[in-house]
Amino acid sequence: MNRQDEIKSNLKIVQDRISIACKSAGRGLEEIKLIAVTKTFAVEDLKILYSLGIRDFGENRDQEASKKSVELPKDINWHFQGQIQSNKLKSICSWAKFIHSVDQIKHAQLISDLRTDSAKSIFIQVSLDDPPESRGGVDPDKLEELASKVSRLPGVVIQGLMAVAPIDNPGTQAFVNLQRIHNLFKSKFPQAKYLSAGMSGDYEMAILHGATHLRIGSSILGKRDQLQ
Ligand SMILES: *Cc1c(COP(=O)(O)O)cnc(C)c1O
Repeated sequence: MNRQDEIKSNLKIVQDRISIACKSAGRGLEEIKLIAVTKTFAVEDLKILYSLGIRDFGENRDQEASKKSVELPKDINWHFQGQIQSNKLKSICSWAKFIHSVDQIKHAQLISDLRTDSAKSIFIQVSLDDPPESRGGVDPDKLEELASKVSRLPGVVIQGLMAVAPIDNPGTQAFVNLQRIHNLFKSKFPQAKYLSAGMSGDYEMAILHGATHLRIGSSILGKRDQLQ
């Protein structure tokens, strides 16, 4: 199989599984945004995905993504979902329309300071790990305090929450918790209606528990060479 056919067939499988999961969750397909996580993959692969209709790409590294973004059409929504480094934020803000991994006020403040004409859409990353914050994300107990501060910053719009399932406990419990955290969060920040959760190994479970933005890499593009 050539690369084009391989990606096309993988993408179709993922899209079919998303529709089935939506049906069993009683949710509409239009509630779900599929972000193809393209970190470490070549620009050619992104072009194939673009030709198959994908317009949302997720990347973790500023340098890699800023290079890719200039080689691809302008109507792509780029999502940054990696660990934020303050000194990279200016560049990240130049290509990323959405930043999924804000977990510190100083980063939100910098995004606000760097804003241009349009506001920057962010997700606040919440930690599901025990102990919390071990792999990034704010402790759920400190989420409201952080969000209150972020919501006062000009030019930053909280779209919702983002989370990564715990490595050692990939079961349903983490998603049940996350949905409960998000529901409570929405009652205080009604504009934050989106939930960025679900990767190759757990996106169907994420759909069952209210995820709106799925970040899927290896199920579409295959194994990555490097661990990221
Ligand atoms: C790499 C990555 C993904 C995609 O993971 P896959 O298992 O390849 O689908 C999703 N979210 C984040 C934050 C990632 O770093």
